[in-house]
Amino acid sequence: MAGEPQADCLFCKIVEGTIPATVVRETETTVAFRDINPQAPTHVLVIPKAHYRDAATLAAADPQLTADVLRETAEVAAEDKVDATGYRVVFNTGAGAGQTVFHAHAHVLGGRGLEWPPG
Ligand code: AMP
Ligand code: ZN
Repeated sequence: MAGEPQADCLFCKIVEGTIPATVVRETETTVAFRDINPQAPTHVLVIPKAHYRDAATLAAADPQLTADVLRETAEVAAEDKVDATGYRVVFNTGAGAGQTVFHAHAHVLGGRGLEWPPG
């Protein structure tokens, strides 16, 4: 069923607490934790607790939950004090775009200059 935990999903395991993570924020519907391989001084992943394979699937299935994730990216940026200097929110979607974990997640990147366009 849509949104149900997947036994083989790394981020579902982080939600369940069976794999540790450095959690920076948690709400009823979302978790935010530091990326294990940070690409910037601030590199936090915001995920819905419910499992959706990517941002497009999440957005189609649950607009409110999509908004929860996006609102949390702003809260993370403010807490890490990168909101004033600017930060980037990225949803890699599909293997061709670099998605490696197929549980929807927003990358929040900041704390250094960010080039545009990204690689
Ligand atoms: P993506 O390539 O967009 O699917 O992003 C997946 C991200 O998850 C990568 O930036 C990884 O460094 C990160 N990652 C993988 N395993 C973990 C973990 N156990 N804890 C935190 N971040 C992770
Ligand atoms: Zn999952």
